[in-house]
Amino acid sequence: MVKAESFSYHLGKTIDLKKAQKKAGGNILGNILEIKVDELEVHVFQSGRIRLSVPGKTFNELQEAMLSNAMRISSIIQKIGGKVDVQKVMKTGKQDDPEDYDTSAIEGKGLVSSEVVRGIISSAYRVSQDFQVERIMTQAGETVGRKLVKQKNPKNRAMLVKEIKEYVEKEGFGRIEEGEKRKLVDIVFKVYGCPFAAGAPNINKKVCNFTRGILRGAFAEFKGAETISVKETKCWAKGDPYCEFEVYSLAA
Ligand SMILES: [Zn+2]
Repeated sequence: MVKAESFSYHLGKTIDLKKAQKKAGGNILGNILEIKVDELEVHVFQSGRIRLSVPGKTFNELQEAMLSNAMRISSIIQKIGGKVDVQKVMKTGKQDDPEDYDTSAIEGKGLVSSEVVRGIISSAYRVSQDFQVERIMTQAGETVGRKLVKQKNPKNRAMLVKEIKEYVEKEGFGRIEEGEKRKLVDIVFKVYGCPFAAGAPNINKKVCNFTRGILRGAFAEFKGAETISVKETKCWAKGDPYCEFEVYSLAA
């Protein structure tokens, strides 16, 4: 497992990086402001996140560096707009979660082309076995689906479906529609223009494991149950003109 060696504190409000730079100094690099305190790097995100790290050093070493530079860190945060001291930062901030990316650091819409996505997937099939590629992609999608539900906290099934649809379209995973009702199936989704597969020749594989994972993660998190199974029943890469997923709730 990957461990994050950085520490994050949230100011609880968005930050205008140019104004922050005027007050606290540092360099704007892309969508973040970097301020150096000796070997310690303070990264200010537009989202209000302040991340501290010492490149190449462990979290314990970082904590030592933070304590010995407490006054300077405190003064930087105050200049940016937080009326806090390092004691409070230490108490309310936390070691980063390796899967918690702050997308405010990405410039533009942050979307990569479907060519890149397909390149990654076809290379994965080339260097690894099918079941391993499937597991990795499904796991990656599940993380995303669970995070979506945790963030949006939909109150009912219709809201869950709406959040999934919006997310899939916004992030460039194609256009998703609810399909017709089927016996024993919780819900059917059809995906048009799926970037993993749309336009693919028939290779007799269902390749949209990432999308399958999003659906499984979202429904499992929403229901608070692990007994959710998602099957891809149609796929461009299997010769179909769209991809289709069936969501099942299995009896515990
Ligand atoms: Zn597919």
